Amino acid sequence: MINLDEFPSFFVANWKLNSNISFIDDYIKNLQTNTENCLVICPPSIYLNLVKTNSKNLFLGSQDVSMYDEGAYTGEVSVNMLVDNKVNFSIVGHSERRSYFNETNEKVLLKTNKLIEKSIIPIVCIGETLEQKEKKITKEVLRKQIQECIPKNANFKNTLIAYEPIWAIGTGLTPSVEQIDEVHAFIKNHDNKFNNFKILYGGSVKSSNSEEINKSKNVNGCLVGGASLNVNEFNKILV
Ligand code: PEP
Repeated sequence: MINLDEFPSFFVANWKLNSNISFIDDYIKNLQTNTENCLVICPPSIYLNLVKTNSKNLFLGSQDVSMYDEGAYTGEVSVNMLVDNKVNFSIVGHSERRSYFNETNEKVLLKTNKLIEKSIIPIVCIGETLEQKEKKITKEVLRKQIQECIPKNANFKNTLIAYEPIWAIGTGLTPSVEQIDEVHAFIKNHDNKFNNFKILYGGSVKSSNSEEINKSKNVNGCLVGGASLNVNEFNKILV
């Protein structure tokens, strides 16, 4: 398993349902991997094998994993298939999967468990809706998601958490740096078990705000969607 403590920061590119073969050729040619941070590219699963990860700090991530191991589950990709394809990280519980594909906390827990068992690092996404933020129940929502999605055997060496306020994903809106830091501090301190977990921030990260967000004491990196599709923009985020 990857030693998460080797890296000062984590930058995860979530390409979602985007890219094609020529995009990938061009992207990998131009990606600046000359950094001590951990870079993770999460392409659509059919392209996992095309993303070459020869560099010592460039890793492959999947955008999801099946909660089933094998059998009659058309369209699914199992954890063993990810292992076979040298995938080191997997996003689970992304808000788009929760809202469009009925991914519940229960399913996220099953998936996270399977990944940990096979030494793939789950990147467990949690976050509140705008309505929950306005009702000032963000912390309760996150506490419940953490309790229900993160298994007992998870620890700071085998699991990453991504705080992604749903209202910030793909909208251009972000919480203030102070608000992000406060939420990350809450995640780390609400239960001693989480004190040393690394928490990534996701939601409209771009080169113009990434440096400031990453400077925060309790931010250990970023999960980047839209802005990761432009390799020059992603290169600027990585510095
Ligand atoms: C995401 O997909 O996890 C994400 C944070 O998207 P964006 O950066 O586009 O808001």
